[in-house]
Amino acid sequence: MEEITLLIDGREVKGKLGQTIIEVARENGINIPSLCYHPSVSKTGACRICLVRVNNRMLRPACVEPAINGMTVVTEDEDIVSMRKWILELLLSDGDHNCLYCDADGDCELQSLVKRYGVQESKKEEPKRERTVDNESSRGIKRNEYRCILCQRCVKTCREIQVSNVWGFSERGFETRLIADDDQKIGESNCVMCGQCVQVCPTGALTYQTVLGRGANWELTKESSICIYCGVGCKVDFYKNREGMLVKALGNYEGPNNGHLCVKGRFGFDFVQSPKRLSKPLIKRNGAFEEATWDEALDLVAAKFAGIKEKYGPDSIAALSSAKCTNEENYLMQKFMRAVIGTNNVDHCARL
Ligand code: SF4
Ligand code: SF4
Ligand code: SF4
Repeated sequence: MEEITLLIDGREVKGKLGQTIIEVARENGINIPSLCYHPSVSKTGACRICLVRVNNRMLRPACVEPAINGMTVVTEDEDIVSMRKWILELLLSDGDHNCLYCDADGDCELQSLVKRYGVQESKKEEPKRERTVDNESSRGIKRNEYRCILCQRCVKTCREIQVSNVWGFSERGFETRLIADDDQKIGESNCVMCGQCVQVCPTGALTYQTVLGRGANWELTKESSICIYCGVGCKVDFYKNREGMLVKALGNYEGPNNGHLCVKGRFGFDFVQSPKRLSKPLIKRNGAFEEATWDEALDLVAAKFAGIKEKYGPDSIAALSSAKCTNEENYLMQKFMRAVIGTNNVDHCARL
């Protein structure tokens, strides 16, 4: 793709023809704030927070404005700051943004911008609209319409990535509302609970049920890992609270999953801390399971294998391996069967 050169805040930066200003800026480590823009979905150009001055003249939304060779961009000046403050005031004037009671407090892009630009409170006097909080209908997602800024990230994510098309807008202008299907509760809609809309929501309008009542956002710590379910091997960022309890899973954008997770990867981590989880081997003795050491368990399995092999031959034993295991584990499994047991009876769940 053809390389282009721009001057952003006096710095010469390189980009590719076809990119927007915000894409070139962010690739070069220059942060232009935005609320509706998200790199994983198509551009919206709705929030206007990303206004920048182009060629020392007009203000243009950087998320949709094509970057052109030789373009001069100023990402912040007095007028731009004033516009951003005004937009933030408008957003705050609608709904309810009492951060103290919000699930997103400390992890909210709107809150960050309000603090960055020193917006104190909304000066607008528009009447508030009736909205809803739905904390009941879905086991995975809590919805608080009072925090929604109509950015469309969830709409586009559900449509373009998950292809479930659950979210959409109804009405127009001041009456515009985000609705699921034809205005169903989220838990009664066609939502398949991938949770991706929650991951991209910039505010507390969508929250994971798993985090509620389990600590503040700034108390959570992150560990990156690989999803334990299927063979895709999605990269996951797990968050644990002060007590060490896993409370949230987000798709990592550097993995093969590009930040996306399915319902299992997103919500299927509760078994890790289940009191019902087996943490020691059990051996059945006199009809009842008893706890045993790993040495006892492995000795027993080895003795059973040896007995079966001696009595019925090595081909009476087979092994089925799993896509949940690593390549190395799968290699060791087949090596064990061929070299130790003496059979080629090996198979793998992903073969079919
Ligand atoms: S959505 Fe953000 S700005 Fe609004 S109340 Fe929650 S934390 Fe505050
Ligand atoms: S959880 Fe997934 S399927 Fe459900 S509304 Fe959000 S993006 Fe769509
Ligand atoms: S729910 Fe969140 S992502 Fe969806 S429009 Fe509202 S603020 Fe944006």
